[in-house]
Amino acid sequence: MLAAVRIRAENPVVQTQELAKFLRDSNKILLFTGAGISTGSGIPDFRGPNGLWQRRQPVYYHDFMRSEGARVEHWDYKLEAWPAFREAQPNATHKAIALLEKAGKVLAVVTQNIDGLHARAGTSAARLIELHGTNAFVECQSCGKRSDPEPHFEAFRKTRRPPVCECGGFLKPATISFGQNLRNQDLERAEAAARTADLVVALGSTLSVYPAANIPLLAAARAVPYVVINRGATEHDEMREVTLRIEGDVAEVFPPAVKEALAVKPESKDRSPK
Ligand SMILES: [Zn+2]
Repeated sequence: MLAAVRIRAENPVVQTQELAKFLRDSNKILLFTGAGISTGSGIPDFRGPNGLWQRRQPVYYHDFMRSEGARVEHWDYKLEAWPAFREAQPNATHKAIALLEKAGKVLAVVTQNIDGLHARAGTSAARLIELHGTNAFVECQSCGKRSDPEPHFEAFRKTRRPPVCECGGFLKPATISFGQNLRNQDLERAEAAARTADLVVALGSTLSVYPAANIPLLAAARAVPYVVINRGATEHDEMREVTLRIEGDVAEVFPPAVKEALAVKPESKDRSPK
């Protein structure tokens, strides 16, 4: 295959058309998503000036497993963030991705987000890979059983005691903690998708957190078109693998392009019903 040729499009209308063309021509799309697609859904910016991380130290996984005090600290931090996650609703970008899947065009949705909004928007479990886990479940660190977070947060709020599984294992929101490896199974599924995708689109990610950011590169290295949409610079901007770089809010660019790509073409007169 030929090396990718960078398309330069500054005009938003042209950008939408170019993106729609790629979406229309592809049937095995790999979507890679980051925090930028959920800012319109009420997900707080933890890294921002008023973010949680300005006030709290992250709890490392091995501390969580060893120390009751660390478990209390982790649950307290998760409790503070829980209402925002519980109330968050999918936005036009999550819905557009679900629509693309319904149209049979999505191979995989690989996300760095832990907000569970892809699943809520209708992306199927078979297509969804949440590389950094999800806040939508609590998970036992011994037997792996998953459960609804709400009762555990309720109990923790009252007792200040970190919840424990019926098997005796420690329960933890099912996100990947600092110092905790990504799940091999998730990485393998994402890499398998990258090896067969015919288009890769990165949405709302600065593409700076590895190994996650390797996934779109793995696909782009096969010379399939690579589209990057983000407000602000990304670490892949200067790479020659990037075919189309759209600067701006994903919610303003991606949903209209999906709509255009999936638009039903008007039938010719002789085939219209009598
Ligand atoms: Zn258990």
